[in-house]
Amino acid sequence: MRPSWIEVDLDAVEANAAKIAERVAPAALWAVVKADAYGHGDVPVAEAALAGGARCLAVALVEEGVRLREAGLRVPILLLSEPPLDAAEEVVEWELVPTVYRRDFAERLGKAALEARRRLGVHLKLDTGMHRVGAAPADAVPLARFVVEHPGLRLEGVWTHFPVSETDPDYTRRQVTALVRFRDALRAEGIEVPLLHAANTAGALAVPESRLDAVRVGLGLYGLRPAPGIAPELELAPAMRVVSRVAYVRRLPRGARPSYGRIRPLPRAATIATVPIGYADGMPRRLAAAGGEVLIGGRRRPLAGMVTMDQIVVDVGDDDVQVGDEVVLLGRQGTEEITADEWAMRLGTINYEIVTGFGPRLPRRHLRRDG
Ligand SMILES: *Cc1c(COP(=O)(O)O)cnc(C)c1O
Repeated sequence: MRPSWIEVDLDAVEANAAKIAERVAPAALWAVVKADAYGHGDVPVAEAALAGGARCLAVALVEEGVRLREAGLRVPILLLSEPPLDAAEEVVEWELVPTVYRRDFAERLGKAALEARRRLGVHLKLDTGMHRVGAAPADAVPLARFVVEHPGLRLEGVWTHFPVSETDPDYTRRQVTALVRFRDALRAEGIEVPLLHAANTAGALAVPESRLDAVRVGLGLYGLRPAPGIAPELELAPAMRVVSRVAYVRRLPRGARPSYGRIRPLPRAATIATVPIGYADGMPRRLAAAGGEVLIGGRRRPLAGMVTMDQIVVDVGDDDVQVGDEVVLLGRQGTEEITADEWAMRLGTINYEIVTGFGPRLPRRHLRRDG
Protein backbone atom coordinates (compact mmCIF):
# COMPACT_ATOMS: atom_id res chain seq x y z
CA MET A 1 0.00 0.00 0.00
CA ARG A 2 1.17 3.54 -0.69
CA PRO A 3 2.88 4.82 2.47
CA SER A 4 0.95 8.09 2.78
CA TRP A 5 -1.58 8.69 5.50
CA ILE A 6 -3.02 11.12 8.04
CA GLU A 7 -2.51 10.56 11.75
CA VAL A 8 -5.17 12.01 14.03
CA ASP A 9 -4.33 12.36 17.70
CA LEU A 10 -7.61 11.63 19.49
CA ASP A 11 -6.09 12.43 22.87
CA ALA A 12 -5.45 15.92 21.51
CA VAL A 13 -9.06 16.25 20.31
CA GLU A 14 -10.35 15.11 23.69
CA ALA A 15 -8.03 17.46 25.59
CA ASN A 16 -8.89 20.41 23.31
CA ALA A 17 -12.60 19.72 23.84
CA ALA A 18 -12.11 19.56 27.61
CA LYS A 19 -10.22 22.86 27.68
CA ILE A 20 -12.81 24.62 25.55
CA ALA A 21 -15.70 23.12 27.55
CA GLU A 22 -14.12 24.42 30.74
CA ARG A 23 -13.55 27.85 29.20
CA VAL A 24 -17.13 28.30 27.99
CA ALA A 25 -18.99 26.77 30.98
CA PRO A 26 -21.79 27.03 31.96
CA ALA A 27 -22.52 27.18 28.22
CA ALA A 28 -22.53 23.69 26.69
CA LEU A 29 -19.96 22.66 24.10
CA TRP A 30 -21.35 21.26 20.86
CA ALA A 31 -18.77 19.64 18.59
CA VAL A 32 -18.96 20.62 14.92
CA VAL A 33 -17.85 17.57 12.94
CA LYS A 34 -19.04 18.49 9.44
CA ALA A 35 -16.86 17.74 6.41
CA ASP A 36 -15.56 14.52 7.98
CA ALA A 37 -14.61 16.43 11.12
CA TYR A 38 -12.67 18.98 9.06
CA GLY A 39 -10.80 16.12 7.40
CA HIS A 40 -9.91 14.37 10.67
CA GLY A 41 -12.42 11.48 10.43
CA ASP A 42 -15.93 12.10 11.71
CA VAL A 43 -16.83 9.14 13.95
CA PRO A 44 -13.62 8.77 16.01
CA VAL A 45 -13.37 12.56 16.38
CA ALA A 46 -17.00 12.84 17.49
CA GLU A 47 -16.41 10.16 20.11
CA ALA A 48 -13.25 11.88 21.36
CA ALA A 49 -14.99 15.28 21.55
CA LEU A 50 -17.86 13.74 23.51
CA ALA A 51 -15.34 12.08 25.84
CA GLY A 52 -13.83 15.55 26.35
CA GLY A 53 -17.15 17.02 27.42
CA ALA A 54 -19.05 17.96 24.25
CA ARG A 55 -22.77 17.33 24.70
CA CYS A 56 -24.08 17.44 21.13
CA LEU A 57 -22.76 17.19 17.58
CA ALA A 58 -23.38 19.42 14.58
CA VAL A 59 -23.00 18.68 10.87
CA ALA A 60 -23.75 20.39 7.57
CA LEU A 61 -25.44 17.55 5.68
CA VAL A 62 -28.10 14.94 6.38
CA GLU A 63 -25.67 12.33 5.01
CA GLU A 64 -23.10 13.37 7.60
CA GLY A 65 -25.64 13.00 10.39
CA VAL A 66 -26.70 9.58 9.11
CA ARG A 67 -23.09 8.38 9.13
CA LEU A 68 -22.81 9.28 12.82
CA ARG A 69 -26.11 7.56 13.64
CA GLU A 70 -25.07 4.44 11.70
CA ALA A 71 -21.91 4.35 13.80
CA GLY A 72 -24.11 4.17 16.89
CA LEU A 73 -23.84 7.74 18.21
CA ARG A 74 -27.00 8.56 20.18
CA VAL A 75 -26.47 12.23 21.18
CA PRO A 76 -28.41 15.07 19.51
CA ILE A 77 -27.04 15.92 16.04
CA LEU A 78 -27.86 19.41 14.79
CA LEU A 79 -28.06 20.12 11.05
CA LEU A 80 -26.51 23.54 10.42
CA SER A 81 -28.57 24.33 7.32
CA GLU A 82 -31.75 23.15 5.63
CA PRO A 83 -31.38 20.20 3.28
CA PRO A 84 -33.57 19.97 0.15
CA LEU A 85 -37.26 19.59 1.04
CA ASP A 86 -37.37 15.92 0.10
CA ALA A 87 -34.86 15.07 2.84
CA ALA A 88 -37.39 15.89 5.58
CA GLU A 89 -38.48 12.26 6.03
CA GLU A 90 -34.88 11.16 6.43
CA VAL A 91 -34.28 13.84 9.05
CA VAL A 92 -37.19 12.45 11.06
CA GLU A 93 -36.25 8.81 10.50
CA TRP A 94 -32.65 9.31 11.70
CA GLU A 95 -33.65 11.57 14.56
CA LEU A 96 -31.50 14.48 13.44
CA VAL A 97 -32.22 17.94 14.83
CA PRO A 98 -33.10 20.20 11.90
CA THR A 99 -32.45 23.89 11.51
CA VAL A 100 -35.31 25.73 9.80
CA TYR A 101 -35.58 29.14 8.20
CA ARG A 102 -38.13 28.59 5.45
CA ARG A 103 -41.83 28.01 5.95
CA ASP A 104 -41.79 25.35 3.17
CA PHE A 105 -39.27 23.24 5.00
CA ALA A 106 -40.99 23.63 8.37
CA GLU A 107 -44.26 22.44 6.78
CA ARG A 108 -42.59 19.44 5.19
CA LEU A 109 -40.89 18.52 8.48
CA GLY A 110 -44.15 18.87 10.39
CA LYS A 111 -45.89 16.53 7.97
CA ALA A 112 -43.08 13.97 8.16
CA ALA A 113 -43.09 14.15 11.96
CA LEU A 114 -46.85 13.61 12.19
CA GLU A 115 -46.62 10.63 9.84
CA ALA A 116 -43.99 9.17 12.18
CA ARG A 117 -46.18 10.05 15.19
CA ARG A 118 -43.50 12.26 16.61
CA ARG A 119 -43.11 15.77 17.85
CA LEU A 120 -39.85 16.94 16.35
CA GLY A 121 -37.65 19.51 18.07
CA VAL A 122 -36.34 22.11 15.62
CA HIS A 123 -33.95 25.06 15.82
CA LEU A 124 -34.88 28.26 14.04
CA LYS A 125 -32.03 30.17 12.45
CA LEU A 126 -32.17 33.94 12.49
CA ASP A 127 -30.05 36.02 10.11
CA THR A 128 -28.43 38.75 12.19
CA GLY A 129 -25.75 39.76 9.71
CA MET A 130 -24.08 36.77 8.06
CA HIS A 131 -26.55 36.98 5.14
CA ARG A 132 -25.97 33.42 3.94
CA VAL A 133 -28.92 31.42 5.27
CA GLY A 134 -31.38 32.23 8.02
CA ALA A 135 -34.78 33.88 8.37
CA ALA A 136 -34.96 37.66 8.15
CA PRO A 137 -36.08 39.09 11.50
CA ALA A 138 -39.48 40.11 10.04
CA ASP A 139 -40.20 36.55 8.83
CA ALA A 140 -38.79 34.82 11.86
CA VAL A 141 -41.60 35.63 14.32
CA PRO A 142 -44.38 34.16 12.12
CA LEU A 143 -42.14 31.17 11.39
CA ALA A 144 -41.61 30.60 15.13
CA ARG A 145 -45.38 30.85 15.66
CA PHE A 146 -45.96 28.28 12.90
CA VAL A 147 -43.52 25.86 14.57
CA VAL A 148 -44.98 26.32 18.03
CA GLU A 149 -48.56 25.81 16.81
CA HIS A 150 -47.77 22.75 14.67
CA PRO A 151 -48.67 19.48 16.44
CA GLY A 152 -45.65 17.72 14.89
CA LEU A 153 -43.06 20.34 15.82
CA ARG A 154 -41.50 21.88 18.88
CA LEU A 155 -39.28 24.99 19.03
CA GLU A 156 -36.15 23.80 20.82
CA GLY A 157 -33.71 26.54 19.96
CA VAL A 158 -33.03 29.77 18.14
CA TRP A 159 -29.64 30.57 16.77
CA THR A 160 -27.51 32.75 14.54
CA HIS A 161 -24.03 32.72 12.98
CA PHE A 162 -21.11 35.16 12.91
CA PRO A 163 -19.21 36.32 9.80
CA VAL A 164 -16.44 38.27 11.58
CA SER A 165 -16.12 36.94 15.12
CA GLU A 166 -12.35 36.52 14.70
CA THR A 167 -11.87 40.15 13.66
CA ASP A 168 -14.80 42.30 14.83
CA PRO A 169 -16.07 41.66 18.36
CA ASP A 170 -18.30 44.78 18.23
CA TYR A 171 -20.21 43.58 15.18
CA THR A 172 -20.42 40.15 16.82
CA ARG A 173 -21.84 41.59 20.05
CA ARG A 174 -24.47 43.49 18.05
CA GLN A 175 -25.50 40.19 16.48
CA VAL A 176 -25.82 38.64 19.94
CA THR A 177 -28.00 41.56 21.00
CA ALA A 178 -30.21 41.04 17.93
CA LEU A 179 -30.61 37.36 18.80
CA VAL A 180 -31.49 38.12 22.43
CA ARG A 181 -34.01 40.78 21.30
CA PHE A 182 -35.61 38.22 19.03
CA ARG A 183 -35.91 35.81 21.97
CA ASP A 184 -37.53 38.63 23.98
CA ALA A 185 -39.94 39.41 21.14
CA LEU A 186 -41.01 35.76 21.08
CA ARG A 187 -41.40 35.79 24.85
CA ALA A 188 -43.71 38.81 24.53
CA GLU A 189 -45.89 36.61 22.31
CA GLY A 190 -45.90 33.83 24.87
CA ILE A 191 -43.31 31.71 23.05
CA GLU A 192 -40.50 30.39 25.24
CA VAL A 193 -37.24 29.32 23.56
CA PRO A 194 -35.31 26.71 25.56
CA LEU A 195 -31.92 27.24 23.87
CA LEU A 196 -30.10 30.21 22.39
CA HIS A 197 -26.78 29.70 20.59
CA ALA A 198 -24.52 31.70 18.33
CA ALA A 199 -20.81 31.19 18.88
CA ASN A 200 -18.33 29.42 16.63
CA THR A 201 -14.74 28.90 17.87
CA ALA A 202 -13.79 32.58 17.64
CA GLY A 203 -16.97 33.69 19.40
CA ALA A 204 -16.65 31.02 22.08
CA LEU A 205 -13.05 31.90 22.89
CA ALA A 206 -12.91 35.65 22.28
CA VAL A 207 -16.41 37.09 22.76
CA PRO A 208 -17.72 35.81 26.12
CA GLU A 209 -21.15 37.49 25.63
CA SER A 210 -21.73 35.20 22.66
CA ARG A 211 -21.59 31.96 24.63
CA LEU A 212 -25.29 31.98 25.63
CA ASP A 213 -26.59 28.42 26.25
CA ALA A 214 -24.27 26.56 23.89
CA VAL A 215 -21.32 27.12 21.58
CA ARG A 216 -20.83 25.36 18.23
CA VAL A 217 -17.10 24.74 18.05
CA GLY A 218 -15.31 23.13 15.13
CA LEU A 219 -11.83 24.48 14.47
CA GLY A 220 -10.71 24.69 18.10
CA LEU A 221 -11.37 20.98 18.65
CA TYR A 222 -8.74 20.24 16.03
CA GLY A 223 -6.19 22.38 17.84
CA LEU A 224 -6.36 25.29 15.41
CA ARG A 225 -7.24 28.95 15.92
CA PRO A 226 -9.47 31.06 13.66
CA ALA A 227 -6.84 33.85 13.92
CA PRO A 228 -3.52 34.10 15.75
CA GLY A 229 -4.83 36.52 18.37
CA ILE A 230 -7.76 34.35 19.48
CA ALA A 231 -7.20 33.13 23.09
CA PRO A 232 -3.42 32.75 22.68
CA GLU A 233 -3.15 31.74 26.34
CA LEU A 234 -5.35 28.68 25.80
CA GLU A 235 -3.11 25.79 24.80
CA LEU A 236 -4.62 23.76 22.01
CA ALA A 237 -2.83 20.83 20.37
CA PRO A 238 -3.09 20.36 16.59
CA ALA A 239 -4.55 16.89 16.07
CA MET A 240 -3.53 16.26 12.47
CA ARG A 241 -0.24 14.96 11.12
CA VAL A 242 0.13 14.28 7.40
CA VAL A 243 2.82 11.68 6.81
CA SER A 244 4.49 9.80 3.97
CA ARG A 245 7.75 7.98 3.25
CA VAL A 246 10.53 8.61 0.76
CA ALA A 247 9.86 6.38 -2.28
CA TYR A 248 12.86 7.21 -4.49
CA VAL A 249 16.18 9.02 -4.14
CA ARG A 250 18.62 10.29 -6.75
CA ARG A 251 21.43 12.77 -7.16
CA LEU A 252 20.97 15.67 -9.59
CA PRO A 253 23.48 18.27 -10.78
CA ARG A 254 23.34 22.02 -10.16
CA GLY A 255 20.89 23.64 -12.59
CA ALA A 256 18.64 20.60 -12.99
CA ARG A 257 14.94 21.57 -12.90
CA PRO A 258 12.84 18.77 -11.41
CA SER A 259 9.12 18.26 -12.05
CA TYR A 260 6.48 19.84 -14.31
CA GLY A 261 7.06 23.29 -15.64
CA ARG A 262 10.77 23.04 -14.76
CA ILE A 263 10.06 26.03 -12.52
CA ARG A 264 13.32 26.27 -10.61
CA PRO A 265 16.96 25.23 -11.15
CA LEU A 266 18.77 23.53 -8.28
CA PRO A 267 21.19 26.11 -6.79
CA ARG A 268 23.75 23.33 -6.31
CA ALA A 269 24.06 19.59 -6.86
CA ALA A 270 21.62 17.89 -4.51
CA THR A 271 19.92 14.68 -3.53
CA ILE A 272 16.28 14.76 -4.55
CA ALA A 273 13.79 12.62 -2.66
CA THR A 274 10.51 11.74 -4.32
CA VAL A 275 7.54 11.33 -1.97
CA PRO A 276 4.26 9.68 -3.00
CA ILE A 277 1.70 12.35 -2.15
CA GLY A 278 0.36 15.06 -4.43
CA TYR A 279 -2.33 17.54 -5.24
CA ALA A 280 -4.91 14.79 -5.67
CA ASP A 281 -4.41 14.19 -1.94
CA GLY A 282 -4.71 17.83 -0.93
CA MET A 283 -1.13 19.11 -1.26
CA PRO A 284 -1.84 22.38 -3.10
CA ARG A 285 -0.04 22.53 -6.45
CA ARG A 286 1.15 26.08 -5.88
CA LEU A 287 2.86 25.18 -2.59
CA ALA A 288 6.27 24.76 -4.27
CA ALA A 289 6.25 28.22 -5.84
CA ALA A 290 5.04 29.58 -2.47
CA GLY A 291 8.14 28.30 -0.65
CA GLY A 292 6.62 25.12 0.77
CA GLU A 293 8.75 22.83 2.90
CA VAL A 294 8.46 19.33 4.38
CA LEU A 295 10.24 17.60 7.26
CA ILE A 296 12.66 14.72 6.76
CA GLY A 297 15.08 13.62 9.48
CA GLY A 298 13.73 16.34 11.77
CA ARG A 299 14.75 19.14 9.40
CA ARG A 300 12.93 21.46 7.04
CA ARG A 301 13.51 20.70 3.34
CA PRO A 302 12.30 22.80 0.41
CA LEU A 303 10.15 21.41 -2.37
CA ALA A 304 12.43 21.16 -5.42
CA GLY A 305 9.71 21.61 -8.03
CA MET A 306 6.00 21.67 -8.74
CA VAL A 307 3.69 19.45 -6.71
CA THR A 308 2.26 16.84 -9.11
CA MET A 309 -0.95 14.85 -8.84
CA ASP A 310 0.56 11.91 -6.97
CA GLN A 311 4.13 12.86 -6.05
CA ILE A 312 6.37 15.66 -4.82
CA VAL A 313 10.12 16.22 -5.15
CA VAL A 314 12.14 17.40 -2.15
CA ASP A 315 15.65 18.90 -2.03
CA VAL A 316 17.54 17.20 0.80
CA GLY A 317 20.94 18.71 -0.10
CA ASP A 318 23.82 16.42 0.77
CA ASP A 319 22.07 14.59 3.59
CA ASP A 320 21.85 10.84 3.74
CA VAL A 321 18.17 10.22 3.05
CA GLN A 322 16.97 6.72 2.27
CA VAL A 323 13.93 5.15 0.67
CA GLY A 324 11.49 4.53 3.52
CA ASP A 325 12.48 7.56 5.62
CA GLU A 326 9.49 9.30 7.22
CA VAL A 327 8.34 12.55 5.61
CA VAL A 328 6.06 14.93 7.50
CA LEU A 329 4.04 17.26 5.30
CA LEU A 330 2.04 18.76 8.14
CA GLY A 331 2.69 18.37 11.84
CA ARG A 332 5.63 17.68 14.07
CA GLN A 333 8.80 15.66 13.47
CA GLY A 334 11.38 15.85 16.23
CA THR A 335 11.56 19.45 17.35
CA GLU A 336 10.39 20.92 14.04
CA GLU A 337 6.75 21.55 13.11
CA ILE A 338 4.90 22.60 9.98
CA THR A 339 1.45 23.91 10.77
CA ALA A 340 -1.73 24.35 8.75
CA ASP A 341 -1.35 28.06 9.55
CA GLU A 342 2.03 28.08 7.79
CA TRP A 343 0.53 26.54 4.65
CA ALA A 344 -2.42 28.93 4.83
CA MET A 345 -0.11 31.93 5.11
CA ARG A 346 1.98 30.81 2.14
CA LEU A 347 -1.09 30.11 0.04
CA GLY A 348 -3.21 33.12 0.96
CA THR A 349 -5.98 31.06 2.53
CA ILE A 350 -7.12 29.90 5.99
CA ASN A 351 -6.25 26.80 8.01
CA TYR A 352 -9.87 25.56 7.60
CA GLU A 353 -9.31 25.14 3.87
CA ILE A 354 -6.01 23.32 4.40
CA VAL A 355 -7.26 20.60 6.75
CA THR A 356 -10.55 20.04 4.89
CA GLY A 357 -8.63 19.79 1.62
CA PHE A 358 -7.05 16.38 2.29
CA GLY A 359 -8.80 13.75 0.23
CA PRO A 360 -10.08 10.23 0.77
CA ARG A 361 -6.97 8.65 -0.79
CA LEU A 362 -5.15 9.31 2.48
CA PRO A 363 -6.26 6.81 5.12
CA ARG A 364 -6.92 8.33 8.53
CA ARG A 365 -5.14 6.57 11.38
CA HIS A 366 -6.63 7.43 14.72
CA LEU A 367 -4.18 7.27 17.59
CA ARG A 368 -4.72 6.97 21.33
CA ARG A 369 -1.90 7.05 23.88
CA ASP A 370 -3.08 3.76 25.37
CA GLY A 371 -3.48 2.25 21.89
C1 LIG B 1 -18.86 25.44 10.67
C2 LIG B 1 -19.77 26.14 11.56
C3 LIG B 1 -19.44 26.34 12.90
C4 LIG B 1 -18.09 26.01 13.49
O1 LIG B 1 -17.17 27.03 13.16
P1 LIG B 1 -15.67 27.01 13.72
O2 LIG B 1 -15.13 28.34 13.37
O3 LIG B 1 -14.98 25.88 13.02
O4 LIG B 1 -15.76 26.78 15.18
C5 LIG B 1 -20.40 26.90 13.73
N1 LIG B 1 -21.62 27.27 13.24
C6 LIG B 1 -21.94 27.12 11.94
C7 LIG B 1 -23.27 27.55 11.45
C8 LIG B 1 -21.03 26.56 11.05
O5 LIG B 1 -21.36 26.42 9.76
